[in-house]
Amino acid sequence: MERPLSIISAADAAERLGKGLVVALPTETVYGLAALASSADAVHAIYRLKGRPADNPLIVHVTDIDQAHTVAVVTPEARRLAAAFWPGPLTLVLERRTGVAEAVAAGLPTLAVRAPDHAIFQEVLRAVGQPLAAPSANPSGAPSPTTAQHVLQDHRGGVPVVDGGPCRGGLESTVVRVEPDRLVLLRPGAIDRATLEAASGLPVVDGSSDAKAASPGTRYRHYAPRARVRLFTDLSVLLHAAETASGRILVLATIDPGPGLEWQPLQAQTLYAELRAADDLRVDEILVHCDRDTVGNEALMDRLTRAAASDPGKHERT
Ligand code: AMP
Ligand code: MG
Repeated sequence: MERPLSIISAADAAERLGKGLVVALPTETVYGLAALASSADAVHAIYRLKGRPADNPLIVHVTDIDQAHTVAVVTPEARRLAAAFWPGPLTLVLERRTGVAEAVAAGLPTLAVRAPDHAIFQEVLRAVGQPLAAPSANPSGAPSPTTAQHVLQDHRGGVPVVDGGPCRGGLESTVVRVEPDRLVLLRPGAIDRATLEAASGLPVVDGSSDAKAASPGTRYRHYAPRARVRLFTDLSVLLHAAETASGRILVLATIDPGPGLEWQPLQAQTLYAELRAADDLRVDEILVHCDRDTVGNEALMDRLTRAAASDPGKHERT
């Protein structure tokens, strides 16, 4: 089968990146919009393509701890975390060195860094030979892309993408600010608090309760489809809402909620794909059943809660 023009090889992606262009790449979490972290022009192009507020910094992707050390100060605590979880979905917020464009960090003295666990992204990083800034490839505020097709839809084919199939993880990385005596959780992700505490021996405190520490990105509404999203812990309340609602309804739940309802399974890996598919099908309301396991999954609940944030017009978008 012939490849659409916007699907490119990893080698082609590396060549374009070297010229200062933006390409989309798969990671184990979601697809990212990548560009040379050292190039102010390339980094500005990412912000433009996403419509991302200039005060919301980007994550810089590296091959390993040594490359991280070229752009940020890798403290002993950070080194221990990187050794335990890299390559993987853990982003460390560290003291920034020179070497990346100011815009990457939105002027902050810190830099968010991680090593992605995806063969294609790693191959491109090695070929380019320098760190790549890469936020999620979605337009600001929308659900992140977890397939190459999502990226093509989001940018109408205007951004070339390397197709790595559906992402394994499906939710964005855990983001922590590393301090000598504690970790500040700025965004929950696949690596949860208990795992971080066990590996680091440090307490994990909540970034959202600490205005100074809070991640700029968490100020904004995020991950939201056009359809209205409502969350229910009680299935019978959800079923009643489904009966009385008008318009097209989709239920997301871990098990089939019963006959007569349009239903899709609720899981981290496919959440964004389901939100996007619901919009394609012109679903009016997405009713989500948050059972005990779901409520216990901090990353999944964080994304669901943001997707369900009411009154989109009043929210800024990231
Ligand atoms: P994304 O690249 O779309 O996955 O979003 C990256 C997330 O990391 C956003 O929530 C940013 O606000 C956050 N982030 C990036 N750099 C920093 C930083 N230096 N300090 C705090 N949060 C950051
Ligand atoms: Mg994002």
